[in-house]
Amino acid sequence: MNKTIGIFGGGQLGRMMAQAALPLNLECTFFESNADCPAAILGQVYSTEQDPNALQAFIESADVFSLEFENTPLADVDRLSQDKAIYPPRQALATAQNRLLEKELFQRLEIPVAPFRAVDSLESLQTAVAQLGLPIVLKTATGGYDGKGQFVLREAEQIDQAWQELGPAKSLIAESFVQFSREVSIIAVRGQDGEVKTWPLAENHHHHGILSHSIVPAPRSEALQPVAQDYITRLLNHLNYVGVLTLELFVTEQGLFANEMAPRVHNSGHWSIEGAVCSQFENHVRAVAGLPLGSTEVVRPTVMVNIIGQHPKSEDVLALNGAHLHLYNKSEREGRKLGHITLMPLNQSELTHLCRQLAEILPEPLALTQDITI
Ligand code: AMP
Repeated sequence: MNKTIGIFGGGQLGRMMAQAALPLNLECTFFESNADCPAAILGQVYSTEQDPNALQAFIESADVFSLEFENTPLADVDRLSQDKAIYPPRQALATAQNRLLEKELFQRLEIPVAPFRAVDSLESLQTAVAQLGLPIVLKTATGGYDGKGQFVLREAEQIDQAWQELGPAKSLIAESFVQFSREVSIIAVRGQDGEVKTWPLAENHHHHGILSHSIVPAPRSEALQPVAQDYITRLLNHLNYVGVLTLELFVTEQGLFANEMAPRVHNSGHWSIEGAVCSQFENHVRAVAGLPLGSTEVVRPTVMVNIIGQHPKSEDVLALNGAHLHLYNKSEREGRKLGHITLMPLNQSELTHLCRQLAEILPEPLALTQDITI
């Protein structure tokens, strides 16, 4: 029987999930406010803008559910009838939506995190600063992304300002500032039978708070891989998770510290479409549909570069040796992820050459100006 997967959200992640589902004869439908979303070309969109009762029609449209938007309202998930499952499970979603719950879970599973305190008043912020010392990163517990809803507190004089900016959110988390050398992420998938497969660590670079490029496998990370794999496996098993989970980590002199998890496919896993035997999108769809998982082995070291804000000329990108271009059918806007480019260089000198060419082609040069090593 062909299954239909109903996906909460219809952005580029939903689009790439549906692209992976198509060859498996699995259909996707989407629940999304914007009827003209990136995923629309691949399946029916149930749009709340067009129909206030779209949620009910969406629920009726599919056999099993998933999501590409981690802030999917829990109330919407709760409307699914008893006999329709959602993967990842509700508890994983609820935990990932709240930084405090998330950090508490990491602690319970003995996954190292920066010392943190819950903050819900100016007094509790003052106490947190006194206990943790400065600098600290103050974050809203819910709703923040790409560095939004954050304040880096370096001096005690900034306490009032930080509280004025973020206090209205009511529930905050104060974290010690982590002195990290690199940011990495690990992505893993768990099947309905409990099998876990993990991709290699990605080394992630940001530009103005947005992921600019990922290098996989993360260079000089052989010793970190089993540790990260152990941490994410603890989370997957504890949450009785099904589907793809991402864990973002800081590399420090004291080892890996967990920053946050995303209960979904992740931008730092886009490399896997060409760079792995089975991509994060295909394995997610396989898990949700109850199919066997595919190999997460790397085909070749891969660099994924985001296209942000403005499109380069497709002809220029495709003229680069071995480059793959993925466009999401989105209009240009500052800071918006419009697509990505995958490079699969044969060696370091080819990569250096490709990066230099790419830095000239991309309208916003990102952080590619310094050479990337694999
Ligand atoms: P987040 O929204 O938690 O992913 O944070 C966005 C970015 O802020 C991260 O990618 C880090 O570069 C930085 N950041 C977040 N938390 C901390 C921390 N506790 N210490 C240092 N940098 C942080």
